[in-house]
Amino acid sequence: MKLLEEKILNEGIAVDEDILRVDGFINHQIDPAFMQQIGADIADHFKGRGITKVVTIESSGIAPALMVANSLGVPLIILKKQPSKVLNDHLFQTIVTSFTKGTSYELTLSQKYISENDHVLIVDDFLANGEAATGAIRLLRKAHATVAGIGVLIEKSFQPGREKLNAQGIEVYALARIKQMKKDSIVFEEE
Ligand code: 5GP
Repeated sequence: MKLLEEKILNEGIAVDEDILRVDGFINHQIDPAFMQQIGADIADHFKGRGITKVVTIESSGIAPALMVANSLGVPLIILKKQPSKVLNDHLFQTIVTSFTKGTSYELTLSQKYISENDHVLIVDDFLANGEAATGAIRLLRKAHATVAGIGVLIEKSFQPGREKLNAQGIEVYALARIKQMKKDSIVFEEE
């Protein structure tokens, strides 16, 4: 998506060769009209595939995922990050390790909101090592739901997320794919 690539070039901040800050238009301040366009693009790619729910991981995936869910006309489910193990019979839970932050968290999904009848599209802001998405897939499989694919705004293709997800049979759709990043240069994959 050209518009997203331009925003990344003009407003994104490459903190180092691995981490991109997008606070001005995705993570801290959000432009709703732009987010709506993003949601429509991802929804358009996955439409007609019988998707019953969109799932995201709190918190930065919520804004784009809500727009995708709105475009597809289906509910949005937010997977909760919990700092410690809360035992509850009605929850699906899994541990995710974040290499980006060097931390682990527990991802939680209430059994009330996903069933074996659901065909789910996962939406998140970034795809890096694929740990968050893999955790989401583990939870959805515990609920016996099927996964239609994952839509992300920004994929850092120099990190192994896509290969990890493709190896599990999951399609990845990314609006902007960063091939290489340095403090003052960001290079995208050719479309
Ligand atoms: P993964 O699990 O694929 O390694 O990382 C995905 C999660 O980490 C995303 O949900 C996103 O919130 C965060 N993340 C990964 N890389 C970046 C980055 O370069 N910038 C920002 N702002 N978040 C990132």
